[in-house]
Parts: sequence; C-alpha cells; structure tokens
Amino acid sequence: MAQSTDTTDWVSRYADEVIAESERRAAGAKSDAAAPVIVVASGLSPSGPIHLGNLREVMTPHLVADEIRRRGHQVRHLISWDDYDRYRKVPAGVPGVDETWAEHIGKPLTSVPAPAGSAHPNWAEHFKSAMVASLRELGVEFDGISQTEQYTSGTYREQVLHAMRHRADIDAILDQYRTKKDPAKGKKQQKPVDEAELEAAEGSGAASEDDGSGGSAGYFPYKPYCGQCEKDLTTVTSYDDESTELAYVCTACGFGETVLLSEFNRGKLVWKVDWPMRWAYEGVVFEPSGVDHSSPGSSFVVGGQIVRQIFDGVQPIGPMYAFVGISGMAKMSSSRGGVPTPADALKIMEAPLLRWLYARRKPNQSFKIAFDQEIQRLYDEWDKLEAKVADGSALPADAAAHSRAVRTAAGELPSTPRPLPYRTLASVADITAGAEDQTLRILGDLDPSAPLASLDEVRPRLDRAENWITTQVPAEARTIVRAEPDAELLSSLDDEGRESLRLLLDGLDSHWSLDGLTHLVYGVPKVRAGFSADATAKELPPEIKVAQRSFFALLYRLLVTRETGPRLPTLLLAVGAERVRKLLGA
Ligand SMILES: [Zn+2]
Repeated sequence: MAQSTDTTDWVSRYADEVIAESERRAAGAKSDAAAPVIVVASGLSPSGPIHLGNLREVMTPHLVADEIRRRGHQVRHLISWDDYDRYRKVPAGVPGVDETWAEHIGKPLTSVPAPAGSAHPNWAEHFKSAMVASLRELGVEFDGISQTEQYTSGTYREQVLHAMRHRADIDAILDQYRTKKDPAKGKKQQKPVDEAELEAAEGSGAASEDDGSGGSAGYFPYKPYCGQCEKDLTTVTSYDDESTELAYVCTACGFGETVLLSEFNRGKLVWKVDWPMRWAYEGVVFEPSGVDHSSPGSSFVVGGQIVRQIFDGVQPIGPMYAFVGISGMAKMSSSRGGVPTPADALKIMEAPLLRWLYARRKPNQSFKIAFDQEIQRLYDEWDKLEAKVADGSALPADAAAHSRAVRTAAGELPSTPRPLPYRTLASVADITAGAEDQTLRILGDLDPSAPLASLDEVRPRLDRAENWITTQVPAEARTIVRAEPDAELLSSLDDEGRESLRLLLDGLDSHWSLDGLTHLVYGVPKVRAGFSADATAKELPPEIKVAQRSFFALLYRLLVTRETGPRLPTLLLAVGAERVRKLLGA
C-alpha cells in the first residue's frame, strides 16, 4: 500500500477532506482552469518571540499540505505574518529592549524599532526572521505574506471599501454575539499562559479592539493608524460611501484629517473582519486555530458568518488544535524573553523528532515538548520506531507518522548517519564537557566491532545532546568525575567491597565495550554470591538485586562522588580504563 494514499492517520483524513472540498469549490465556480492550487493557511503574529506552542498553527496545515503534495496536487501554504497588528505590550526579558519601547504601543509592529543590536529593520522583522529560520530547518515549505505590505500597498482596497459599505450588516452580525461574554476575544494563536491571564485582566478593552468600535458616528470595521503619531488610537468621525471620504481624530495626539479611503493605505480592517476577508481573498480551504476558538462569539465562528454574508466566500475547514505544553525548560536558556521558541527546541532535538511530535498526535490532543530528562525517553521511543520501520513491523499509523517526520514531498530531512542512543551521547557529553578527542575515543569504544571513524557520523544528534546537557541540565545534576581517589572511602571498605572492585578491575580490559562492561558490572555481584556471571534472573535469588544496587552505588561514589549518575558502562568507558583503575584503588 502506498504511503501517500492510505487513510490511517489524521493527516491523510484531512488531506482527503481538503482535496474533496477544493474540488467541490472548483466545480461550483465552473472554472475551466486546470486543477486548482489548493490553499491552506496559518497566521502568526510577530509581536515578540514566537512561542514554541504556536508552532502547531503552522505544523498542522504543513503536514496536511505535504500529504496533498505527495499525492501530486499543487498546494500553497500561506503564512500570514500579522505584522500590521498593533504593538500591544512590551514583552518582558527580551535582550536589547527596555521600558522606553512602551511609547510605541499602538503602532503597527513594523513601525516599532527592533531590539537594540538587531540586524533587522523593525520589531516584526526581528522576530519573524527567527521563526523563518526554524521553519526552514523543519522543512516547512510556505509562502509568507506580510500584512503590512498587503495593506499599505492597497492590495485589499476593494475589500476594505466593500466592508465599509456593508458596515451596518457587519455590525448586526457582531451584535448577535456582543451580549455574550466573549472568552476568545484574542487572535487565533494560542498565547502563553501568563500572557493570556494578563489579557484577561485587561478586560473588555481588547475585545472591542477585535471587532471595531462604534463611536457617535456609528460602527466602522476599519481603523486608520494616525498620520502624526502612527498609533491606532483613532476614532472615525465620518464616512461617505459615495466619495469614500473618511475623517478621523487621534485620541493620543489630537491629530485629525480627512482622507479618501479609495486612496488611503494606512489602516486595517478589525481582526474579526480581516480574518474572514482573507479567507475569501485567498480562497483558503484549510486553516486551523487554537482550541479556545470553538466558543460562540469566537473569531472563527463569527468569521464563518461574515465570510458568507459579507464577502460571498466559504469558511475553511478549521480544526481546533489543543494546547502544546513545554516540560522543564531551564530558565537560564530562555534567552529570548523567557519564551521557549522553536529555535530552542531545535537546539536540543533534531528536526525529524520535533516534526514527529506533531505528526503522531491528532490536533485535538494536547502534548508536551520535553526539555527535561523526558527527552531521553522520547529519543528511545523514536529509535524503537525507526527500528520497527526498518524491519517492516511498524503499525501503519506509526509508519505514516514516521514518514511525515523524516521527509517531505521535497525530500529527506538531514539525519544522523549513526544514530547512537541520545542518552548515551548526553552522558558522554556530560562527562567530557564537549572535548572532541575524548568524545571520539569513548564513542569508538562503545562497539569495537564497528569503530567510529569521525564524530560526523553521530552528528547532528551529538550536537543536540551536548546542547541539552549544557543548556538544560542544572549544574548540580551534572557529572563531575573525581580527579583523585576517595582514599577515606577506599580504606573503609570491607572484604566484600574490596573483592568486588578487584573482580571488576580484573575484567576491565577483556570487557572494554558497552555490551562487555554491561555484562561485567551486573556479573560481579553474581560471582561474589557464588553464581555464574551468565546466570539469568530466574536462576538467581532476589537478594542479588540488592547486592547489585549497593555495588553500583559504591562505584558511583568512588567515580563521581554521588549515589547515581549516567549508566555505569557508559560512565566507565567515558572515564577511561586508566583513570578507573586509579579511582577504584588498583
Ligand atoms: Zn496620533
């Protein structure tokens, strides 16, 4: 069965739906054109560092678009950069930004200066560029659209004039929802929890911003940015449909002017009208949004009515995606304003692994991205899946998720030629503190039958594991190999302890590999208890486990002055035979 046509996973099922909907629309339009380009969309607001959780806004349509592309259709994945939105607040902790940025609140994001030292011309470009780099690394093919460019070049002129002509109809639609409490007043992107709380505390001010406000002159779905201070704290005081003459005053600086909307390009439709306008303008067939938008009065629900009744368009298929959490990201690594970004995740995991997290869960399932110890288990799970895919024993849905993780319609993503276990690489990086010659020696010893010629064979996974150790593992959890033997502990050992160490040291040279040392460290307590080193659990009394635990604890104390540490065989290889002998008192 061809991977691209099975319907075993959520991506395939949405692809089926999107293709069918696209064909239905084309038939309705009675177009003679060849097969239409299928349009899917995402929207991102570069109002600050773009949160890793918001990657779902892009990955959901990306995976569906990629499946559609694999089936031979033409797809356009639009990413709308909502960079003409107002600057709402100064995010905390962004390097190069201080409280003076507050004076720009109310301006378009592209009119706010970039953080000090940035290579980019403005605020929006600065944060957009980091996201673009991550999307490239993730293999996401997209067509980026700057809403600043669209609005300021007059691209939406007809749509703006049309919305203004139909302002009473829009007002009537919005009014159906206004009496209800609107919990999903914000944009469709999910916000980090603290920001969501902050906005909730702001109260209804933000809500009216999203659907336009009605002053004494009536309701207007369009807001100009002030011609003097550039802020959106303007009130439209009159509008004439015939001449398109629009007058506004600015409540921030007192400036006022009368313009012709048929020529004026410094303003935008309010969000709840802007979004459905773009669905119609671009012919969007699929666009997901955050799960908090399923409520009555949410911009997706209201937008569905506005796109049909005002813009004569069709609402896209729009699944609600669940929250993506982050577990255990160390504070010290949150270099971009305390917000974990996709770039932070890509520093500690390879792109296919991050893609897999999104591919294997349906959009309505929430999950966490691990920055803590859990990442090691996650990599183990991934390696097991790779092995199953290689031998053909993976279940179809699992194989599909794997395929979506490692390749796109354009080809394979970069991978690690010899994917040694992440936890082993992390342990080695922990012990060697990144020293390359030492790392190569240790990794070469893991499997002497197939020695490693160069560290390139284990890259980029090795680099990710090193980054994880240095940026996410707290100093007190790092492994520090003793420089000198613990003479006091060694001299206090009883016969049992001394004999166990002697057995271990005697076997060291003949067992110098990952498998060999595993056999040795587990075998020593067995031999001491009068059994063969090869005896299996069934042949052994349960007390052996106790003896093994206390033997391991002794080794950890002698080698790293703690009761635990990286797996012992890895630790022994990393420390090196000579130093092991010295520290164990040979
Ligand atoms: Zn002004």
